[in-house]
Amino acid sequence: MGIHSGVVIELSQVHFGPAGFPADARGKIERVFQILVDAGMNALEYAAVHGLRTSEDRAKQIGNLARQHNITMSMHAAYYINIASKDPQIRERSRQRLIKALKFAPLMAVKRIVFHPGTFGGLSPEKAHIVMRDSLQSVWEEAGHLGKGAFLAPEIAGKLSMFGSIEQIIKLCQDVDGCIPTIDWAHLYARRQGKMTDKESYLKVFNQFENELGKLFLDNMHFHISAITFTEKGEASHKPFGGEWGPDLYPLMEIVHEVGYKPTFICETPNPLEGALYAKFLLEEIKKV
Ligand SMILES: [Zn+2]
Repeated sequence: MGIHSGVVIELSQVHFGPAGFPADARGKIERVFQILVDAGMNALEYAAVHGLRTSEDRAKQIGNLARQHNITMSMHAAYYINIASKDPQIRERSRQRLIKALKFAPLMAVKRIVFHPGTFGGLSPEKAHIVMRDSLQSVWEEAGHLGKGAFLAPEIAGKLSMFGSIEQIIKLCQDVDGCIPTIDWAHLYARRQGKMTDKESYLKVFNQFENELGKLFLDNMHFHISAITFTEKGEASHKPFGGEWGPDLYPLMEIVHEVGYKPTFICETPNPLEGALYAKFLLEEIKKV
């Protein structure tokens, strides 16, 4: 009998964490990781949403702290990425932002670079796809290796006017090397005008991604969660859990528990750490049933 007999080592687990640093850390990075560990969190999505402006030294410090504290890192790249923009300069700047994110990823222990593909740039969805596919493929060929295993993770868009339906994100992930999907369940709910309430509707989404992307999806599930308000145009504003706003997290957590999926849940409620705790608590309660 080996020394490890009887010890079950859980190689993969469900991860929970906030989008952005907890406010209580007041930007002090040692505090960030201590707060996460104390709260029982094991993931963090670094918010570079206004551009990646951190120094290399600070990026390394973040990466070292993340490794020491066993926090799984992702990064949300700039909001103003717009890969299929009408303006060629914006297209090129969007490419450069993703290349920079790939360069910084290994310093920060980041494995997933989340981004919004952007607008259709006045193009048909099919033409916008081609522009995005070619641009992202060129990013990957130029800088994919610099990410040392980091993926590009285009996100389901909350606004119907933006590129980012389920089908569009799946097709990007099929056509471009190094792409995995980010499923933002709140965005999806807003796109569907709230028509995603029962377990069946969630299961259909899982099945669609699983059938189309297989292992790429199953091994790299990256989810954003929040409650949300919406208009006929899609998302309006992010709201806390436990109130009157959907989507309902319960069926989602039931599926994760029953199937044994191991996603990373990044919470984007107004207080993301509180929301992540709520979500983790919900899954733990479901496991007891
Ligand atoms: Zn999101």
